[in-house]
Amino acid sequence: MRIARFVHEGDPTFGVVDPGDNPAEVAVIKGDPFFSGVQLTGERHKLEDVRLLAPIIPRSKVVGIGKNYADHAKEMGGEVPAAPLMFLVPNTAVIGPNDPVVLPAFSDEVSYEAELAVVIGRICKDVPLERVDEVIFGYTCADDITARDAQRTDGQWARAKGFDTSTPLGPWIETDLDVDDLAVQGRLNGTLVQDGRTSDMIWGVRELVSYVSQAFTLLPGDVIMTGTPAGVGTLKEGDRFEVEVEGIGRLTNTVR
Ligand code: MG
Repeated sequence: MRIARFVHEGDPTFGVVDPGDNPAEVAVIKGDPFFSGVQLTGERHKLEDVRLLAPIIPRSKVVGIGKNYADHAKEMGGEVPAAPLMFLVPNTAVIGPNDPVVLPAFSDEVSYEAELAVVIGRICKDVPLERVDEVIFGYTCADDITARDAQRTDGQWARAKGFDTSTPLGPWIETDLDVDDLAVQGRLNGTLVQDGRTSDMIWGVRELVSYVSQAFTLLPGDVIMTGTPAGVGTLKEGDRFEVEVEGIGRLTNTVR
């Protein structure tokens, strides 16, 4: 099932995007599916008539994982870390499909990073590997946009990874997905620049969720970004970047 968040008329609403290769409609959900499950109101809209929003504004945090693909660690000139490298992104950095990415004035080198993102479904802590599936609500696409120059100079990555508009999420959350071996692709102005597979991740989704939950209590709606494959590069004004994760869909944002 694909859960989207959108505006039709009035306040943001959750909805179920029709399955199939050519989803054309969205069925409105009553309330918040993270807390009250998926109950449909019976109201439907054409997908083209709604504006999709970030499918979730994380309740408490986005957790990023750095250097989780060996080929990306190599292109960054570093080794693969001995344990997952974690950072936090504030929820104010999150934007949705087609929202503009605003380049921060403090950076001359802003890079895209196509990633699979995990959306947490229930409050949890110290989740053992074999119970991780129980705490996952679903999966979406993320662009972990990074001010590379600030990342180098700051030491801490809060500014480099957490500036406003740095974290596009969407287009929706896919709740039924086997994520062990999916294509993760990035396209810059239509050209394929990143082409990885989740099977190449150093730490898989279950290991990451379990590991992150040893440090943080995870809340419904929290998001974990799982790292980017090789091929990162700089964004400039007017660029269009698309993240596509196999089985989820395509997240598109343009730089302003
Ligand atoms: Mg990243």
